[in-house]
Amino acid sequence: MKLTYYGTAAGEGWPGLFCNCDLCKAARDLKGKNIRTRSQALINEDLLIDLTPDTNMHCIVYGLDLSTVDNLLVTHSHSDHFNASEIELLRDPFAHERPNIFQVYGNNRVKEKIWMDVPGVEEGEDKSKFKFHYAEPFQPIAIKDYIVVPLLALHDKKEECLFYQVTQDGKTILYAHDTGAFPEQTIEYLKANKVHLDLVSLDCTTQSEPDGKNHMGLIDAVKEKQRLTELGLGDENTVWVVNHFSHNGLWLHDQMVTEADKYGFLVSYDGMSIEI
Ligand SMILES: [Zn+2]
Ligand SMILES: [Zn+2]
Ligand SMILES: [Zn+2]
Repeated sequence: MKLTYYGTAAGEGWPGLFCNCDLCKAARDLKGKNIRTRSQALINEDLLIDLTPDTNMHCIVYGLDLSTVDNLLVTHSHSDHFNASEIELLRDPFAHERPNIFQVYGNNRVKEKIWMDVPGVEEGEDKSKFKFHYAEPFQPIAIKDYIVVPLLALHDKKEECLFYQVTQDGKTILYAHDTGAFPEQTIEYLKANKVHLDLVSLDCTTQSEPDGKNHMGLIDAVKEKQRLTELGLGDENTVWVVNHFSHNGLWLHDQMVTEADKYGFLVSYDGMSIEI
């Protein structure tokens, strides 16, 4: 199984759209892996996670190809993860020769956003090109030959924020953004339905600063790694990655690599692929 990161920044992007701080200035200067767009990832070539406002840029600049992708997992409705109006582009005359219906999995807030932002949907008109599925926490979903488990995140209390465990051919990826320390219900599920995690991608929005409540800093990610290891879910064969970074965390890419390396984490960057 392969995971490709297309967007690895927090909500404002890095450099932040309107930001004039030293970290954003440095990213504009240095470019390379310091340029981070908003959240999106792809499993193999066919299972998309999140529909960021930077999706089109990911297609044009990083070679993301959505022409044959039919399945989307949405973590939550925040604007850096889900730009509902893109769903309209599945229709004629914006998209041709897509025989399959695009399947969207997410929480009820994601559904509301589609219903609000895609013309005609609220009135019960054209839903012919996509289908929304409520992703119920802890209820496994079969998508092609994947088993996907939506897990509860600790993030925005106003909606049911999710992250996803995805298994295919005996390999499992845990893609955990945006979340603070995993809620007890999620830990209980992982304990009771134990699978070996081959790749764990943990939130690291606040980098140098601890958080743990809505997001994680590096030190929170280290604690979560310890907890998952103690539970026997991950081990030295697991690929541990930190991802989803904000300029407010103060570490440009190279420093993030230095700090994360001390704890056995890889650092995501836009365009990075990992095979497990
Ligand atoms: Zn985010
Ligand atoms: Zn900034
Ligand atoms: Zn969020």
